[in-house]
Amino acid sequence: MTRIGVLGGTFDPIHLGHLVVGEEARDRLELDRLVFMPAGSPRLKEHAPLASAVQRLEMVRLAVGDNGVTEVSSQEVDREGSTYTVDTITEFRGQLAESDQIYFMVGMDALEQFDRWKEPDRLLRMCNLVVVNRVGHQRVDVNDFVGRFPQAGPGLTLLTVPRLEISSTDIRNRVRDGRSIKYLTPAPVVDYIGLEGLYR
Ligand code: ATP
Ligand code: MG
Repeated sequence: MTRIGVLGGTFDPIHLGHLVVGEEARDRLELDRLVFMPAGSPRLKEHAPLASAVQRLEMVRLAVGDNGVTEVSSQEVDREGSTYTVDTITEFRGQLAESDQIYFMVGMDALEQFDRWKEPDRLLRMCNLVVVNRVGHQRVDVNDFVGRFPQAGPGLTLLTVPRLEISSTDIRNRVRDGRSIKYLTPAPVVDYIGLEGLYR
């Protein structure tokens, strides 16, 4: 049995907040594999990503490297059009053994929109949901959530991660305003953003 963590996101750009979530989950949930999965065209975002899918994927690669545990998946980016988590996880499950466990991570902010996700119940049958705290967002009421999504019950984990008040939105705004983003994301990503002229 392999334990696989999946962190999806727009990663426009990836930052230390994402990396800390992944590492904390790897450590606490004893993951054998940790997969970062940049989204193709996320439907629930108010704005389209500023960086292209190729650029977002490259920044994730630069940030995490490939170290035997952590991987970067281009599965969503490779698919045309809108991507839905339930379809992604279905496809991903198809590559795994029956006994393998998927731990799908979401921040509290993303969970607030869970009602609007496609086929949430089917998604919850295929993976264990890991809910991560995020600065500025209420702790979810677990009883209330499980009341609405009974399928979440057995696999639900609340993971407390160090509170980093970092967001991709803030990084994009900083670049636009000519302010520093050093230490908010790994140095190779800072350099890449500069070289590609992103977010200006
Ligand atoms: P944006 O500001 O563009 O929405 P973001 O910083 O929220 O970007 P996303 O790519 O939207 O980054 O997030 C991907 C996942 O990582 C989501 O589940 C989100 O809740 C989580 N996440 C992002 N930043 C943090 C953080 N600082 N702490 C905890 N979780 C985070
Ligand atoms: Mg976000």
